[in-house]
Amino acid sequence: MPLRITLDELERKRRVERDAVLPLDCCAGLLGGGWTAMGEGFPVHVDVRRASQVVEATVRVQGRFAFACSRCAEPLELVADLTFEHRFMRPGSLDAGDLTPEEAAFNADPELSEHDDVAIDLQGLCVEYLLLELPYAPGCPDASTGECARWNEPWQPWDPPPEADDDPDSPWSALRDVDLEKS
Ligand SMILES: [Zn+2]
Repeated sequence: MPLRITLDELERKRRVERDAVLPLDCCAGLLGGGWTAMGEGFPVHVDVRRASQVVEATVRVQGRFAFACSRCAEPLELVADLTFEHRFMRPGSLDAGDLTPEEAAFNADPELSEHDDVAIDLQGLCVEYLLLELPYAPGCPDASTGECARWNEPWQPWDPPPEADDDPDSPWSALRDVDLEKS
């Protein structure tokens, strides 16, 4: 639990910075759509401050993922490097009816949750934010020059091959002798 930071430690130091490498398997079972985590792990840097009743965390997390282009199947890699902010409040403060105006403002913020009065753990958030970086149908980054380019040729009307219905066993073959001009 390298990204678990106790409130006691925060109380003493006011600010805790920590570096860690999350194991690749922390997102096992969560990756969909042909994504595969690559490398030695996910490097993380956290900077956590305690300000009155609120714990504020700034987190940078990086990851490398392999995927196949959803159009041309070319094997590719995506490098994610993102920074997010998250705030933690005391347990019960998000559903209490007697919020201060400041707390009420926080309440509207999706980047806010409650801690358990003992510690905060940022690992789950790192995984969540990484997964949000992965597009549903990933493709070549530059579809005009990558392997995808050949899919981008100007559209040509399709002419069926003239012999397509020449199969004498086809139930439709008799239609060839119907003279539409006469009827
Ligand atoms: Zn492609």
